Amino acid sequence: MQPHLVLNDGQSLPRLGFGLWQVPQDETARVVREGLAAGYRLIDGAAIYGNEAGLGDGLRRTDVPRDRIFVTTKIWNDRQGYDSTKRAAEESLARIGVEHLDCLLIHWPCPDQDRYVETWRALVSLRSEGRVKSIGVSNFMAPHLHRIIDETGVVPVLNQIELHPRLVQAELRALHARLGIVTQSWTPLGQGRSFDAPAVQAAARRSGKSPAQVILRWHLQLGCSVIPRSTRAQGLAENLDLFDFALTPDEMDAITALDADERTGPDPLRFG
Ligand code: NAD
Repeated sequence: MQPHLVLNDGQSLPRLGFGLWQVPQDETARVVREGLAAGYRLIDGAAIYGNEAGLGDGLRRTDVPRDRIFVTTKIWNDRQGYDSTKRAAEESLARIGVEHLDCLLIHWPCPDQDRYVETWRALVSLRSEGRVKSIGVSNFMAPHLHRIIDETGVVPVLNQIELHPRLVQAELRALHARLGIVTQSWTPLGQGRSFDAPAVQAAARRSGKSPAQVILRWHLQLGCSVIPRSTRAQGLAENLDLFDFALTPDEMDAITALDADERTGPDPLRFG
């Protein structure tokens, strides 16, 4: 069985999941079914990915019981605001065809809209109504985290952020640790940009693993939850096969030293 993290609300989060960004709607049910068959129990979706119906189809076509599967989706930027977020969550529940979500995230803080606090209040309300078990955020930076916590007293269970060897997010991870927030890494493979780095190649040779497996293992040893994407059964299986080896402290440090403060995605202070 793969390891879990205990969230600050007492729920249990599988450390490793798979993401559905850019997975075509008509392939999503197959990917979900194959991912669950391979052993994944955490699925990362979002309304904006346009494949929540396929996600729901996949859930209905698997033998794995619903209560063993952790389903996350996200509120898109144009649905921020209290009432609009509550409606958007109900629409996601209906599209996926489930009674509750395991986790609902605010996809981006969109500071220029300045509605993320009321959006967060809507998530708190959805949790008290039992429509979602856990609530968290994505792409939040320190000021956004402090503000929702100060204004509502509710600490997100996790913050899903861009994190890979060229963007190691040391300060934000340290803040998460102080606040009891799990760091979940998106684009964990960093579009393959570090696969050829000597630190990754050396650890791969020493452990007999692929560069992707070395990088995913690095995330786990940093203490993060991680959600790589693959639409191929072989890639899904490879990315799950991380629990029979460990990186040494020197290997961990050498990979962390690849940091270049380099994003593949947008700057959360400006986006949306
Ligand atoms: P990723 O780092 O998982 O990389 C995916 C790419 O790597 C694909 O091209 C895939 O074919 C390839 N790949 C996967 N496994 C491989 C392997 N073992 N060897 C070689 N290549 C491999 O990137 P991603 O899809 O950008 O991110 C993962 C997930 O994170 C997304 O699906 C989504 O769920 C989530 N995400 C969230 C946000 C956000 O704003 N919250 C943004 C982007 C992505």
